[in-house]
Amino acid sequence: MTSPPNAPSPDWLMQLRDVRVAYPGGIEALAPTRLDVAPGEFLVLLGASGAGKSTLLRCLNGLVRPSAGEVRANNVPGGVLTSRHLREHRRHCGMVFQQHHLIGRQTVLANVLMGCLAQHHPLRTLWPWSRRDQIRALEGLERVGLLDKALARADTLSGGQQQRVGIARALVQSPTLLLADEPVASLDPATAESVMSLLHRICKNDRLTAVVSLHQVDLARRYADRIVGLRGGRIVFDGPPEALTALREAELYGVPAPQRAAPEMSLQELPCSIAASPLPLSP
Ligand code: ADP
Repeated sequence: MTSPPNAPSPDWLMQLRDVRVAYPGGIEALAPTRLDVAPGEFLVLLGASGAGKSTLLRCLNGLVRPSAGEVRANNVPGGVLTSRHLREHRRHCGMVFQQHHLIGRQTVLANVLMGCLAQHHPLRTLWPWSRRDQIRALEGLERVGLLDKALARADTLSGGQQQRVGIARALVQSPTLLLADEPVASLDPATAESVMSLLHRICKNDRLTAVVSLHQVDLARRYADRIVGLRGGRIVFDGPPEALTALREAELYGVPAPQRAAPEMSLQELPCSIAASPLPLSP
C-alpha cells in the first residue's frame, strides 16, 4: 500500500484515466475512458456483446495494456499500474471467468489451491501444499457450500458448482478487488441467480470491491450498487440501478424504446364531453 499507516484510505481503489484500448487491426475496443472504482462497491458493467466490457475489466488487472492513458491502483507504489507492478497488483485481484477455467481431471481442492499460488512463487506447485494453504482452500469451499466435494474431480461437477469452485479459488487469494467476467453467462436462469446471490453475499460480507460484467439486465438491477453501461467502447450510463430507466436501457442496447402503455382511466377521469355522451346502443 502507498498510504502511510493511519492515513485515511482514498475514496477510490482503481482509476482509469483516459484509458484507450485499440487492438491490432485498429479496432478501438475502448475509447478514452475515465472511471473510478470505489472501495466496497459492487459495480456491474452492462452492454451488448462487443461493447468493451471484457476489455475494461482486463485493463483493471493488467491483462490488457492500454494504448493510451493511465490505470491507477491504490495498492501499488506511486499509484500508477505499470508492468513493474503487475505481479504485485494481480495478487490483490481475484478473477472469476465465464468458463470457470478449472482443470477438469484435478480435484476440486487442487483447483481451489491454485488460488493460493498468487501468494507464492510459481514453482510452489512442485512441493506439497502447506497445511495452512489446505485449510484456507477448505474454508473457501465451505463458504461456497462445496466442502463435501473437495475430493471430487472438478469435471464431475455441474456448471453452477464449477463456478462456485471458481469463486472459492478467487477468494483464497484474499483479494481486495474481485473481477468477474460474465460469471453466470453459461448457466441456466435459476443457477445464475443462486451463483450471483452467493457472489454478492460474499462480497458484501467481506467488504470486497467487485467489478462484474453481465449481460442479464435483471440481475444487474437486483445486485449492483452501481451500473456502468458501455456502448461501442464508451461509457454511456453510470448510475444506480434505479436510474437505468427502460429508455436508458434501450439506448444502451441500441434498440427502440418500449412503447409505454396508455394508463387506464376510470369513467370519472374521462373528459366530461365524452363521459356525458350516451353509449352507442347495440342494434
Ligand atoms: P464485450 O466484453 O462487451 O463483449 P470486448 O471487450 O470483448 O467486448 O470486445 C470489444 C471489441 O474489441 C469487440 O469489437 C471485439 O471484437 C474486439 N476485441 C476483443 N478482444 C480482441 C482481441 N484480442 N483482438 C482484436 N479485437 C478484439
